[in-house]
Amino acid sequence: KSLDLVALCQSIIKQLKSAYKREIDLHFAAPSIKVIADELKLKQAIIILIDNAIKYSTDKIDVYLNVNELNTVIKVKDSGIGIPDYEIKNIFERFYRVDKARSRETGGTGLGLAIAKNIMKQHHGEIKISSTEGVGTEAELFLPKS
Ligand code: ATP
Repeated sequence: KSLDLVALCQSIIKQLKSAYKREIDLHFAAPSIKVIADELKLKQAIIILIDNAIKYSTDKIDVYLNVNELNTVIKVKDSGIGIPDYEIKNIFERFYRVDKARSRETGGTGLGLAIAKNIMKQHHGEIKISSTEGVGTEAELFLPKS
């Protein structure tokens, strides 16, 4: 089903901003960006990324919507605790959480990214995370253009 990613992200961010009292800014390359996707599933994947940014940072969060030759890209950027290099390969595993001591206080099951990865697979897309410990994290969802 074709849907407008800008409108979808605006509504997700509005909800999360008021629930968590956090600053979340949306940046989009065009006023309307159409994608073919399962709306509820895509919404769930986006919420997982923003929810992580909320849990593992305290400052402003930025969400970017871009389109390139091959993909529509949704990027969630935070300036939080980040993820150590050697942990990046593990974070998509079910129930995996980085350093139990630091993640205990934030709650969570360690399922979020495994679910998001699965949702992107169902859409023939991809999820990528790059992070610098102590600096922040960028999580990207790639949706192939049909
Ligand atoms: P939940 O299942 O409720 O989302 P979770 O956040 O622990 O719980 P995942 O979303 O799968 O689970 O994330 C796995 C781990 O990756 C987290 O426990 C956390 O250590 C790390 N992580 C994910 N996103 C970020 C982020 N934006 N900044 C820092 N660490 C992160």
